[in-house]
Amino acid sequence: MRRITVLSGGMGGARFLKGLLHGIREGTLPGVAGDAEVTVVANTADDIWVHGLKVCPDLDTVMYTLGDGIDPERGWGRRDESWSVKDELAAYGVEPTWFGLGDRDVATHLVRTQMLDAGYPLSQVTEALCRRWLSPRFGTALRLLPMTDDRVETHVAVRDPDLSRSPSGRRVVHFQEYWIKLRAAVPAEAVVVVGLDEATPGPGVIDAITDADLVVLPPSNPVVSVGTILGVPRVREAVTATAAPVVGLSPIIGGTHVRGMAEQLLTSIGVEVSAAGVGLHYGARSAGGVLDAWLVDSQDAGDLDRLHETGLAAAAVPLLMTDDAATAAMAGAAIRLVT
Ligand code: GDP
Ligand code: CA
Repeated sequence: MRRITVLSGGMGGARFLKGLLHGIREGTLPGVAGDAEVTVVANTADDIWVHGLKVCPDLDTVMYTLGDGIDPERGWGRRDESWSVKDELAAYGVEPTWFGLGDRDVATHLVRTQMLDAGYPLSQVTEALCRRWLSPRFGTALRLLPMTDDRVETHVAVRDPDLSRSPSGRRVVHFQEYWIKLRAAVPAEAVVVVGLDEATPGPGVIDAITDADLVVLPPSNPVVSVGTILGVPRVREAVTATAAPVVGLSPIIGGTHVRGMAEQLLTSIGVEVSAAGVGLHYGARSAGGVLDAWLVDSQDAGDLDRLHETGLAAAAVPLLMTDDAATAAMAGAAIRLVT
């Protein structure tokens, strides 16, 4: 295998990619060439305009994680960050005050916003940013592609008991407000991805799926990361039709997400919060879904029968991404399922 395409969200996808690249470098992945090329198709539906800046959390998390600029504890933003800009904006009383805008990070958003204002599409802007972070380490062996150049934004409907503000008893907030300000602590009643139906896949996205030797759904959020990528018109069809095997790794271990908010959002779309629930939600390609194989955690070995019954290849191995070697072993086990 020389061409591996991964449909990624932010933290879960980025950690998986770090392990995958480690495995390629160490030659521990069965059947994968040492000079294999990895293409990341990243979710952009978390993107938000804030203080006049275009922020792309998942693109940046992948870029900083693989470029070794990430703050590893936080899992987003830059290491050795300071927060003067954020504090100064708060001192002016400018909203939103809840969005984490670090001083180092601001430079990325300034460059991105200026290039977008000058007329460059997000894909070219991302390529320019990656020339700093990824090219020196990976050359042309790693590409980061936004799922679309179009504006697509996930919103979440939440219950709002304040009827003077929300006569319907319901309010729709940007995904970032749901996640950061509301801490995903209130039930999500619906997920609405504004602009998704009219979006066009970004340059190279369809080809990366069609021409791949392997397509991977990493343990990213199945609703607001992988779900939105698959929702870009023609992307799901490309995954269904590619000659490459498609394998996924469960983001749910023992009935809970490890980090993040997959539980709340799966519930909102009526999907069982379990390794089998997510695997069956994606579905076997032989039955109209997107997967050939689904890897679950050892704790969830009891789910394997249900998965096998639907035509999925499936196995249970440890799926905690504790370090690069453990994550590379996960990637290896996923590849073994389809080779
Ligand atoms: P986000 O955009 O930053 O939310 O990141 P992703 O969508 O790429 O991934 C978030 C999901 O990763 C979470 O909802 C978790 O379910 C999953 N996740 C995080 N850490 C781990 C881990 O160590 N193992 C597994 N299997 N899943 C994980
Ligand atoms: Ca995200």
